[in-house]
Amino acid sequence: MTTACVTDPVWSVAWRHHAVCRGEDVDPELFFSDSETVQRKAIRVCDACPVHVACLDFALRMKVDHGVWGGTTPKQRRTLAQGEEATRGQAGGCSLPP
Ligand code: SF4
Repeated sequence: MTTACVTDPVWSVAWRHHAVCRGEDVDPELFFSDSETVQRKAIRVCDACPVHVACLDFALRMKVDHGVWGGTTPKQRRTLAQGEEATRGQAGGCSLPP
């Protein structure tokens, strides 16, 4: 999966209407815990979410540094962003907006 060259405007959040985590049976606290055990539970919810790619893209583009988004922890997103930076530097191609 790549997040480069995404053309949807960052403010387009229509995907949120399909977010599994908006369901009444999902505890939102799962997504904002520092516990890796709890984060894994949130990631399992994301695994079944139909909009996890859009969610991850949003979190990366907005540089969201808290919570589980798109099946990733903040630490995982930092790693993804660093890889994106390295790729951009090597290829000089499209990139995530600042
Ligand atoms: S991928 Fe996870 S955090 Fe993102 S909308 Fe779906 S359930 Fe929520």
